[in-house]
Amino acid sequence: MVSYKELGLVNTREMFAKAINGGYAIPAFNFNNMEQLQAIIKASAETKSPVILQVSKGARNYANQTLLRYMAQGAVEYAKELGWENPQICLHLDHGDSFEVCKSCVDFGFSSVMIDGSSLPYEENIALTKKVVEYAHQFDVTVEAELGVLAGVEDDVQAEESHYTKPEEVIDFATRTGCDSLAISIGTSHGAYKFKPEQCTRDPQTGKLVPPPLAFDVLDAIMEKLPGFPIVLHGSSSVPQEYVDIINTHGGNLPDAVGIPEEQLRKAAKSAVCKINIDSDSRLAFTAAVRKVFADKPGEFDPRKYCGPARDEMTKLYKHKIIEVLGSDGKAE
Ligand SMILES: [Zn+2]
Repeated sequence: MVSYKELGLVNTREMFAKAINGGYAIPAFNFNNMEQLQAIIKASAETKSPVILQVSKGARNYANQTLLRYMAQGAVEYAKELGWENPQICLHLDHGDSFEVCKSCVDFGFSSVMIDGSSLPYEENIALTKKVVEYAHQFDVTVEAELGVLAGVEDDVQAEESHYTKPEEVIDFATRTGCDSLAISIGTSHGAYKFKPEQCTRDPQTGKLVPPPLAFDVLDAIMEKLPGFPIVLHGSSSVPQEYVDIINTHGGNLPDAVGIPEEQLRKAAKSAVCKINIDSDSRLAFTAAVRKVFADKPGEFDPRKYCGPARDEMTKLYKHKIIEVLGSDGKAE
């Protein structure tokens, strides 16, 4: 048993309370490798933004759960070395799909876990979430739950269609499970293809797809039922078209990739939405930078020469999200 407190990590309770009162959101960035983690920590340290490091099932399979946990511990020390005296870093399990996975993360130094029972029948989702909450709270680990279904594909999480969260269920769900935050479905979606072309309109000038707006009426109804309760948005990458264009002009093929416009996320961040998950955008930044080096310098074979620029591009992206979209800069001085 390792407590996250010994590792210098924090849970989400205070982060979320401050974010809701302050009208901003905490970035939750997924990480799978060293360059990505370096970029997240550098961006957070330079902007003094609280940050949530997320580990998905795909990341655990790719990089090993033990190694990722030690990397997060190293990240706290790296943050201090960068001059961030009081780093506010949370290590969070993304989309835990069983009690056992959540328990192993709690036992091994994670400060927050998500139990995703959203694909289960309502009562089973409640029972599973409650079991995880009862275990995690003994160790002051916070728990995110999910109600409603997001469309899209992310690692092993996939669904054909989204089902918006039903506002009439949220009080019962939050009360009976005791969860600390709730991921909801209001039209965000996993992956770089968040919407089918037929769900979008096309900008007549650029020919690019314009996605349908998020269901802010559903968000408002949920906030009315649960005033001040921390709300989480998954699948909130914006799929920057400049990265898609670089990829497509340097040997890639991402036709009609489309995400959530940043102005909608900016609006959400000012509400009770206090955690916004961003993963695909950093994948796009990484891939665009690597493809550019490969195209411009075909003789390059030192991974540091293409992973380095990829890391720089991700750092730039993370800082942009923190300062321009979520407003969490300067909130962890
Ligand atoms: Zn997700």
